[in-house]
Formats: sequence, structure tokens, C-alpha cells
Amino acid sequence: MRCRAKFGTSVSEIDREGARIQCADGTSYGYDSLLLATGTRPRMLGLPGFDLPGFLPLRTLADVDHLRPLLEVPRCIVIVGGGYIGLEVAAVARGLGHEVMVLERQARVLNRVVAPALSQFYATLHTSRGVVLRFGVSAAVVEGDGEVEAVQLTSGERIECDLVLVAVGAVPNTELAQAVGLAVEDGIPVDASCRTSDPAIFAAADCTRFPAARYGLTIRLESVQNAVDQAKAAAKAIMGEEVTYDPVPWFWSDQYEVKLQIAGLS
Ligand SMILES: Cc1cc2nc3c(=O)[nH]c(=O)nc-3n(C[C@H](O)[C@H](O)[C@H](O)COP(=O)(O)OP(=O)(O)OC[C@H]3O[C@@H](n4cnc5c(N)ncnc54)[C@H](O)[C@@H]3O)c2cc1C
Repeated sequence: MRCRAKFGTSVSEIDREGARIQCADGTSYGYDSLLLATGTRPRMLGLPGFDLPGFLPLRTLADVDHLRPLLEVPRCIVIVGGGYIGLEVAAVARGLGHEVMVLERQARVLNRVVAPALSQFYATLHTSRGVVLRFGVSAAVVEGDGEVEAVQLTSGERIECDLVLVAVGAVPNTELAQAVGLAVEDGIPVDASCRTSDPAIFAAADCTRFPAARYGLTIRLESVQNAVDQAKAAAKAIMGEEVTYDPVPWFWSDQYEVKLQIAGLS
């Protein structure tokens, strides 16, 4: 079969019995094997005021195209979330001369992904560059009349700002799988050969939860390395090869002039 790409439409339904997918533009295609690689979307918090212009997620190229011109004038930026994305944006925004405050509800940055010593290293790095880090705080309301004016914390404290970037993790796009009765559990569970609970349907990358035998866990990874390697494993399995996907995860992050590289899970 030829490899074809089709842009600008969504797969809206899967007919498992008929082995066909239905697209939102009315077209439909049959399959022998189907791969779900639907990725994730930003967790949006659903705070009052989240629909104000100036309250922004960061996921797609369109999000970047929207953000870039907003950074051409001096800004007071609040970043909700001290994970990789929040801190990388903080570093870039400080480099451009903006005032930046990071709100993190845990007691340290990168809490989910690195050990305390590394969190301390990055906290020191950011504060030395002028980023204000606030720990143990949660955003409750985004205030503004037509545009963002402040973030109110659950404590009632009000922080004036004119841009709010939300970087509090991602939610796997599992609705399509769930709608046709595939197992779903914070991701689409697959086996070591990337098969879902339907043997004709495979899944790969950010949207999957897979067995990591070396850790004795099932995990969901959001990384380019995993997206590429698991996709290759899925392709081999679809072609009938024996596959046992059990990667050593690795990650990187660029903040200021510092590059972090991690092999394995913290
Ligand atoms: C700001 C940011 C910075 C990052 N930096 C790093 C980094 O430095 N290093 C790193 O390793 N990782 C990084 N990541 C994570 C990395 O981008 C992801 O792990 C990777 O993109 C996952 O690939 P994917 O194919 O699973 O999902 P995606 O890249 O999200 O692709 C999924 C695609 O599926 C499409 N789709 C979804 N549902 C449907 C449907 N029903 N019909 C048709 N199409 C559909 C979506 O539109 C999307 O294009 C970063 C992520 C973000 C958001």
C-alpha cells in the first residue's frame, strides 16, 4: 500500500467491526491495522477568566505564532507551572527582558521529573536570572476586563500581570479510543508490541500507557525519543515482526545556556 498523508481533517469514528475509520470531512477508509498516535493536549485548569486573550497554552505551532508577537513589548508574565515547559518559557522570556513569575503548587520546580538536588540547581539558576519563583501556591482566578490584568491565588493574593501562560501538564487524547470501547487508563494501554485491547489497533507515543519491564511499571511518556522509538516498534509489529518495546527513557531541556540530559526515570 502507498503511504499517503491527509491534512486538515480529524478522524471522528472508528468502526471496529467493519475495520473502517470515518473522517469529519465525510471520507472513510478501511484498514487491516490501525495506529492511534493522537498525542496530548495541554491541561487547561478551567479557571474563571481562562477565556481572556492573554491566557495562553503552549502546545502547537499556532500557539507559538500567537505568543511570539505578544512578547515584542515589555510584559509582566505569570507562568502557572514550574515543569519543563514553564521553566523553558521563563528562561526565554527573561532573555527577552520580560518580568517573569512562576507559580508552582509543589515545594520545588520540576517536582515530577527530577531529584531534589536538580530542582534546587534550577531554582537557583532561575532566581539568579531574575525570575520570581513562588512555591506552594495555586492560581484560582484570572482577572481582567477584555484582557488579562491579574491572577488571583487561592490564598486571595492578587498578582498583577498582562500575560498568563498555563503549563500544568498534558492530557492524553484518548476520546477516539474510548468511544469505541478500547481500554483507556490515563492513556491508551498497549502491550510491549504496541497493541491495544483490539489486536488490529495499535497505539504509539504520548497517548499510550505501556509496560516498562525494566521498572516493573506501566508508564506514559511525553518525549520525542519515546514518540519516535515507539512508533518504529509499532511499525515493526504491524509488519509482523516480534517486538518487545522496553526503552531506557531519555529527556533533555534547554534553559538559558544550560542543557540538561537525563537517561532513565528519576
Ligand atoms: C512546548 C513543548 C515542548 C516540548 N519539548 C520537548 C523536548 O524538549 N524534548 C522532548 O523529548 N519532548 C518535548 N516535548 C514533548 C513532545 O513534543 C511530544 O512528546 C511529542 O510531540 C509527542 O508526539 P506524538 O506524535 O505522540 O503527539 P503530537 O506531536 O501531539 O501529535 C499528535 C497529532 O495527532 C493529531 N490528532 C489528534 N487527534 C486526532 C484525530 N482524531 N484525527 C486526526 N488527527 C488527530 C493532533 O492534531 C497532532 O498533530 C515538548 C512538548 C511541548 C508541548
